[in-house]
Amino acid sequence: MDELELLVELHVDADRQGPGSPTDLDLAAGLAGLDSGRSAARGPDIIDIGCGTGASTIQLAEKFNAKVTAVDLFPQFLERLEARASAGGLADQITTIEGDMTDLPFPDASFDVVWSEGAVYNMGFAAGVAAWKRLLRPGGVMVLSEITWLTSTRPAEIDEHWNREYPEIDTAAAKISILENNGLSLRGFFVLSEAGWEEHYYQPLEGRLNSFLARHADSAIASDIVDGERREIKLFRTYRDFFGYGVYVAALETD
Ligand code: SAH
Repeated sequence: MDELELLVELHVDADRQGPGSPTDLDLAAGLAGLDSGRSAARGPDIIDIGCGTGASTIQLAEKFNAKVTAVDLFPQFLERLEARASAGGLADQITTIEGDMTDLPFPDASFDVVWSEGAVYNMGFAAGVAAWKRLLRPGGVMVLSEITWLTSTRPAEIDEHWNREYPEIDTAAAKISILENNGLSLRGFFVLSEAGWEEHYYQPLEGRLNSFLARHADSAIASDIVDGERREIKLFRTYRDFFGYGVYVAALETD
């Protein structure tokens, strides 16, 4: 197996593939003005970009009566998402699309909400915002989580790590400016909860690492992947006062 196949295998059994939580989603949805009363005859059209196995897709469909188009590069994740949707009686509200976030095959103004948790970094926040805003209908809302510096200065070890892994990491003020420069006006911002990292992502991931290593005992790539995940978890626990996921909610300005 190559590195990508191994990464997919490590993450495919998880409820989610990046930091986030139901409580954080509810908070973001409230800021985005989504109505949790399922009474609405027709819920919003949402595109969930980089949906993974669908933690947010399922919650958005279930709680907000949304019609969700869930896009991810990996069909293995989408298969899991479809199984979860069927099990939850939500299959008719969810469409999965195997596709690349840099080249989304939808006409302009197709959605009320563009939602993306822990995924826009794959193309970069600035490029993602610029490319995805056209998908919004007038008054539509973009909800993005993005790795963010929480302080103006920080220890060298974490500064060097993130500048190597994701040079676009920046402060919330800088990320908000990017939104504003794209004609998106801020509706809300918060820092993702610690539970979103620990209980919902890192702790379940840690629990899978030993069996993953045992399954791939002969693979140097697998042990590199595990070393990388453990390093990332340790860095979070050491330096979590200095960085986090910012959750950005911004509405398309109407002219
Ligand atoms: N939103 C999910 C997954 C976050 S992990 C959650 O919060 O649990 C990032 C996801 O982005 C992965 O599922 C990965 O397969 C997907 N991804 C990475 N590059 C992509 C691309 N170019 N286009 C679409 N999806 C991509």
